[in-house]
Amino acid sequence: MGFYEKLYRPVFCHSKSDGRLVIGKKNSHCRYCGQTKQEGRGWNLAHVLPAFFENNELFSADECSSCNDLFGCQYDDHLAKLTKFFHAVTGVRGRKGVPTAKSGNGLRIEHALDGVTITDPERTAESDDKSLTLRYRSEPHSRFAAWKGLVKPIFALIPSELLGEFEATRRMLLNPQGRSPIEPCMLLIAAAPWGRLKDKYSVFLFERAHAGEDYPRFIAVYYVAGMFYHVPIYSDKQIADISRANRTFEVSIPPLTDSIETLKTGPREPKLLQIDMTSQDQVSDEQTITVEWIERHDISEQGLSSPL
Ligand SMILES: [Zn+2]
Repeated sequence: MGFYEKLYRPVFCHSKSDGRLVIGKKNSHCRYCGQTKQEGRGWNLAHVLPAFFENNELFSADECSSCNDLFGCQYDDHLAKLTKFFHAVTGVRGRKGVPTAKSGNGLRIEHALDGVTITDPERTAESDDKSLTLRYRSEPHSRFAAWKGLVKPIFALIPSELLGEFEATRRMLLNPQGRSPIEPCMLLIAAAPWGRLKDKYSVFLFERAHAGEDYPRFIAVYYVAGMFYHVPIYSDKQIADISRANRTFEVSIPPLTDSIETLKTGPREPKLLQIDMTSQDQVSDEQTITVEWIERHDISEQGLSSPL
């Protein structure tokens, strides 16, 4: 951890309690495709992170309508399917409320105003009065398309004078069939739903303090309801250096400074999940996750209801 504290510095942070923030220059050109904004023809403000990450405060003014359509239609739907289970369990509220997660095996996680109801016909032997082990099969989605949905917000946050360093990533985002310039694409998630921060939603951007190493040029961390999504982005120069030398590279967790300290006061260390997001295939991920409660709850045959 000390190593990362030396390597990275925070360059952007926005939390729910900071209020509404619009980034990017109005009346300029689209930072993704370069299209110039025409006089008198507006682009809608774009969500930096999708609304289903509980973002209704952080917007960008320099994403054109066609890029917004492309990202929304091609990537966000896959990202929503990838994250639906986590968001249903932890109660992340999108435009239409908390999503209901339904799995082919009958598992259903549904939120109402008074709490969450989990219906699990498969109830496993490990389940007891404080925990449930759930087997969830996601709706088919492309992990790589979801990955692009996570990379796109970083591009919105990078200072505009540095965007030229990320041409390869820009091309990847603009081409729905485009592959990643660097593989594998590893998504790290630190999950600690028991130790929530004051704010339910935060976005951090960390910049590498020194150039020329294999570690990502920027790492974005999206925090929502106890889950930290870590997404790295490499500069063109790094990509060229790494491919030329045919080196492997490491992705690790950057420091979360105050945030991680807050989480450590929870019952245990955050659980780390690492997902390889490289594949473009449509997959139904099976996730087995144990959901635990600090207080005892009665679990009936019908399922469990709990105020989370
Ligand atoms: Zn555009």
